Amino acid sequence: MDNSELVAAAKAAREAAYTPYSGYAVGAAVQDERNRIHRGCNVENASFGATICAERNAVASMVAHGGRSIAAVAVVTADGGVPCGMCLQVLAEFAPATEQVEVICVAMDGSSRTFKLSDLLPHAFRSDAVARTPGGVQGSDLT
Ligand SMILES: [Zn+2]
Repeated sequence: MDNSELVAAAKAAREAAYTPYSGYAVGAAVQDERNRIHRGCNVENASFGATICAERNAVASMVAHGGRSIAAVAVVTADGGVPCGMCLQVLAEFAPATEQVEVICVAMDGSSRTFKLSDLLPHAFRSDAVARTPGGVQGSDLT
């Protein structure tokens, strides 16, 4: 799939962002294993800790629609910012391998940078680490 559709979905999602406190609107789109695109925008809250990022909202939408594996991610912001650490961790949860997932960060001026998820989160905490823990879940339990 051409990334233009993924980026367009992220741009459209950004238009719906709810950012009365920061004004930093973010739109995200993830492409799942069936090439479906799921959108998310950031949703701020007066109780700042209740704010949720666009990327995690997009992943939640993917999961709610049955997707379990991220093929690519696009994020659109004013300045081309990269996902926060918490979102990188959530993206890694659904990456078949972090080296395989492109994260396309697009600024509103049209400039973009493309990273591998493994570049942004080189030592991701993955489910296999949990499975090594006595009493932890087994890899086969995660499908
Ligand atoms: Zn985030």
